Amino acid sequence: MTGVEKPAAPSRAAVEALADVQDVCGRPVVARVTDNESGETQLVPIPCGSTRESVCRACAERARRLRAHQCREGWHLADEPEASGGLTDERTEDETMGDDDNGDRRVRSTRRRQDVPDLPRRRMEDRTVGRIFESPDGRVYRPSMFLTLTLPSYGRVDGDGVPVDPATYDYRRAAVDAMHFAKLVDRFWQNLRRCAGYQVQYFASVEGQRRGAPHLHAAVRGAIPRQVIRDVVAATYHQVWWPPHDVASCGDVVWVDDLGGLEPTMAGEGGYVEAATGWVLPTWDEALDDVDGDFSPDVEAAHVVRFGSQIDIQGLIAGTPATDKAVGYLTKYLTKDLGDALGDDLDTDDDRAAAREAHLDRLAEETRWLPCSPTCTNWLRYGTQPKGARPGMVPGHCPGKAHRRENLGVGGRRVLVSRRWTGKTLTEHRADRAAVVRAALEEAGIDPDDHDELSVSGTDGRWSWETIARTQVDDATYLAAVAALVRTRDRWRRQYDEARARAETSGFSATPGGP
Ligand SMILES: [Zn+2]
Ligand SMILES: [Zn+2]
Repeated sequence: MTGVEKPAAPSRAAVEALADVQDVCGRPVVARVTDNESGETQLVPIPCGSTRESVCRACAERARRLRAHQCREGWHLADEPEASGGLTDERTEDETMGDDDNGDRRVRSTRRRQDVPDLPRRRMEDRTVGRIFESPDGRVYRPSMFLTLTLPSYGRVDGDGVPVDPATYDYRRAAVDAMHFAKLVDRFWQNLRRCAGYQVQYFASVEGQRRGAPHLHAAVRGAIPRQVIRDVVAATYHQVWWPPHDVASCGDVVWVDDLGGLEPTMAGEGGYVEAATGWVLPTWDEALDDVDGDFSPDVEAAHVVRFGSQIDIQGLIAGTPATDKAVGYLTKYLTKDLGDALGDDLDTDDDRAAAREAHLDRLAEETRWLPCSPTCTNWLRYGTQPKGARPGMVPGHCPGKAHRRENLGVGGRRVLVSRRWTGKTLTEHRADRAAVVRAALEEAGIDPDDHDELSVSGTDGRWSWETIARTQVDDATYLAAVAALVRTRDRWRRQYDEARARAETSGFSATPGGP
């Protein structure tokens, strides 16, 4: 392990600039590592591991490369991957975006359930790999697809994504749709599997369109007729059975520790009360009971999300440049915030840029005040106590990720990978790459355990480590930590290159990418 020595301290900005130029983490976590045999301790830097370029360019780029590797590995699998875990649950934690509708397992009446849309249903084969096609000259093709799904129009926009008429642009709908986009996408995969007749696998990323709405890019394993995909997209919808939240009708609220004085049945319970009227807001469960108990024939969900009519479907063949390009496209913006990536390739003058900024501000303002989940503080605006209500909740200040300016309503994960894409978790992919490096080093007669990045991420009886809060690390130590990362990276890369060069002459080949 590389210890941290203490030179004189230059400025923090200089440290970060150094890290940036050197392509190493600029804000490492410093760990105190103890050698359990000798009792010696030293400080060791560990890269922060952020996936956002705005936080750490080096770590984000590393994470992006790992995702590209994962995407490429699963797309054209010829054999079924070994499933990690049960086969009945197709979802992985990677796949879960946002919160459940109601955060609980209420069973709705049959009439309310989101039944399978009116689509042809095929017998489901237990396979995840696509079919093979053979050309007359005996060549074998394994086609797959690249899909792009969008949300509907909220009003006409110009080439920069700015509404032609902001006054009539449906900002509210745009914001609510963005918040429930992940659920709609979930339902799409369920429906697609039913119609395609096999366990369709995907690697998908959620990106922002110029107009600020999320859209989905997906690598799909296997080829499905275009018309089937179009039909499934058109028939897929997601209903939000939440309490009504179209009009913010509730006045200012106050928290009351004991509601007994206002509502004898609620003695001993705390809750929110409309300040001007003394009206006790219904609890989340009560509000849902109202929704569920309304059996009138014209009862409607609080919101219904559907896809837009713009769909892009590309057929791709394994190993072609088009496929490589698509992998690059799928992972290109993952290191950016949803809102950040939008202005990327715009060529606009200042006025246009300002108009765009104003548009995104307006959208962000809309998402700030809408409920993002059952626990959202914004429910107080609509006269419902948030699930798990407690003192101090303030509308417009919900910490949910969906409300952040940079996310424009998308609070969940940006990468969605089905469980049997490769049959591996991202951690296993990471370990895989480490194994490649390890093999290359061993090949060259170098002891891999001499390397920080491998030993820090492993568990080792000999060493124990704890991370130290940034405030406990002085600037000189911190700089030394970054400098140590640079040295380690240099040494590691040099050894890797040497090992690879040697391996190439002896027939061993490492996968592309390197450390
Ligand atoms: Zn970092
Ligand atoms: Zn919220």
